Amino acid sequence: MNFDLTEEQRLFDRTVRKFAETELAPTATKRALQSEYPHDVAHRLAEMGLIGITFDEADGGGGGTLVDAILAIQAVAMSCPRSADVVQAGNFGPIRTFYEYATPQQKEKFLKGLLSGEKTISLGMSEPEAGSAVTELTTSARETEDGYVLNGTKVFGTHSHDADLYLVYVRYGPGLDGIGSVLIERGTPGFEVGPANKFMNGETWSQLYFDNCRIPRENVLLGTGGFKKQISGFNVERLGNAARSVALGRHAFNVAKKHALERRQFGRLLCEFQGLQWKFAEMEMRLSSAQLLLMRAAVGARDGLPSAHDSALAKLACNEAGFFASNESLQVMGATGFSQDSTVQYCLRRTRGWMIAGGSIEILKNRLAESIFDRRFPQHP
Ligand SMILES: Cc1cc2nc3c(=O)[nH]c(=O)nc-3n(C[C@H](O)[C@H](O)[C@H](O)COP(=O)(O)OP(=O)(O)OC[C@H]3O[C@@H](n4cnc5c(N)ncnc54)[C@H](O)[C@@H]3O)c2cc1C
Repeated sequence: MNFDLTEEQRLFDRTVRKFAETELAPTATKRALQSEYPHDVAHRLAEMGLIGITFDEADGGGGGTLVDAILAIQAVAMSCPRSADVVQAGNFGPIRTFYEYATPQQKEKFLKGLLSGEKTISLGMSEPEAGSAVTELTTSARETEDGYVLNGTKVFGTHSHDADLYLVYVRYGPGLDGIGSVLIERGTPGFEVGPANKFMNGETWSQLYFDNCRIPRENVLLGTGGFKKQISGFNVERLGNAARSVALGRHAFNVAKKHALERRQFGRLLCEFQGLQWKFAEMEMRLSSAQLLLMRAAVGARDGLPSAHDSALAKLACNEAGFFASNESLQVMGATGFSQDSTVQYCLRRTRGWMIAGGSIEILKNRLAESIFDRRFPQHP
């Protein structure tokens, strides 16, 4: 498999790196501590064509590939990890599932605001009693004459506290085939966004309540039987999650490397102690291997969606490598890394969360076991 970047991709990578170094790096530490969504960054990224990179040009996107979108996350992360999260949100999260399955009318109504960085979309999948067991979700969508009535509760959604649009997994009927998804705008009667809660990574999330919330038929994204499609779309999300995990790990590694080349203890530079050299060797091995698995999944997808096996493997490797490298980098930097003035502590907190979100590392291992043994392993007793 050929992972070589084209000349055009190299140029794109250089341009994005330069932009991030000059415009985002100076305020990266301040931004890493800010819990509100950085709309200023989203607007700037949109102007640079870094939102909707893989979407068709006719729809206002960049007409690029998954590899291009991964390059953008990684190039931005080298200077500003928080802004890399915004690139991820503008290319891989619910926006990507929306783009994949939305009707022309839905795109007409919502895409412009999302692509300009003005509006955000949040994924309402998890429920109080349906986390890893996502197919046990109970939020119901009951059909009426002119649309659907929703009842249920969602938890933990990224950007759920202040999003404008919500892509909500619902149950139209029993079983796997009864699951699909709908689009709900903030302010719809019967839809309430609860008080703000905080994750340790600084993200704010709100519980979402649907109490006889009526939506028109045209808000259906995927109807009955849509779950399999939804999960295929989710494999792209996994690559976005993987890309930023390994990118934040690499950011932390670079910061720690610079520190080890400057800081002296016992009359020597930190990089001269073998105990720390081996940490760097181990980090390099894990980050590089994870990066290769990520590229294999993205290149293998060609113009379609990545395979479930490749994206599970890539996410698992990148989540573990990103967290490992962030944690070891912080250790190399001592109290300086542990301080809020360092972007490394941000990388540690963020990469930790992605070992739980978007398919926890245990669930990914379950998925891999199924493809290794080529059989299903139902998790229910
Ligand atoms: C940073 C972050 C962002 C998130 N963003 C969103 C979002 O945007 N939208 C959304 O809907 N949700 C979001 N979530 C929620 C996320 O999808 C869930 O946290 C995840 O599915 C796990 O569910 P749970 O937390 O309820 O843990 P549980 O399902 O209760 O699992 C607890 C532990 O048991 C393990 N476990 C469970 N079942 C098995 C099994 N069969 N085999 C082995 N181990 C198992 C899990 O891996 C985990 O370690 C986010 C979570 C985090 C941390």
